[in-house]
Amino acid sequence: MIVGILALQGAFAAHRRRLASLGVATREIRTPADLTDEVSALVLPGGESTTMSMMLERSGLLTPLRRRLAEGLPAFGTCAGMILLARRIVDGRPDQHALGLVDITVRRNAYGTQIQSFETDLEVAGLDEPFHAVFIRAPAVVEVGPGVEVLARVADQPVLCRQGPVVVAAFHPELTDDDRLHRCFLEMARPAAATP
Ligand code: GLN
Repeated sequence: MIVGILALQGAFAAHRRRLASLGVATREIRTPADLTDEVSALVLPGGESTTMSMMLERSGLLTPLRRRLAEGLPAFGTCAGMILLARRIVDGRPDQHALGLVDITVRRNAYGTQIQSFETDLEVAGLDEPFHAVFIRAPAVVEVGPGVEVLARVADQPVLCRQGPVVVAAFHPELTDDDRLHRCFLEMARPAAATP
């Protein structure tokens, strides 16, 4: 199994280090040629979702990426990655692409200037101990469709969601020492990779 890490922009290196520390083969994805069939899961990192959207278009990755995701490629989107994977984006650029894999509406930069960045301990469904989460100019999930499982909330607002093989976090699990969410993602992605 090779885990692709969308490396057009943003915090991809920290995800790569984390996955490498868990013994997983990784590949930075920048062009359609990088997204071969050997890539059986994908991480979409934090960064700037409007820039990533533009670069997806310019690199020619948008169409092959949409196709692989539609075929069921397991994906883990953090912060800007969550925005890219959402069905609807509020306060985005008008030409910004929403890949639509998770039936949520996200509002970009929703936590206001005073608390643009904050940290908090989350209760996460399926984890015994709280997860220390770092939020940086995070999106807020303002609507959730019926097929979406909410795995963690902050003040009633969903911050970790799953729909099928796609997990999205409004925070940055790659920036703390806690590797449990990456492990959970790999556990979910591995059986899919083994299917012929
Ligand atoms: N505010 C960024 C965006 O809109 C996301 C921030 C992040 O990924 N840390 O894309």
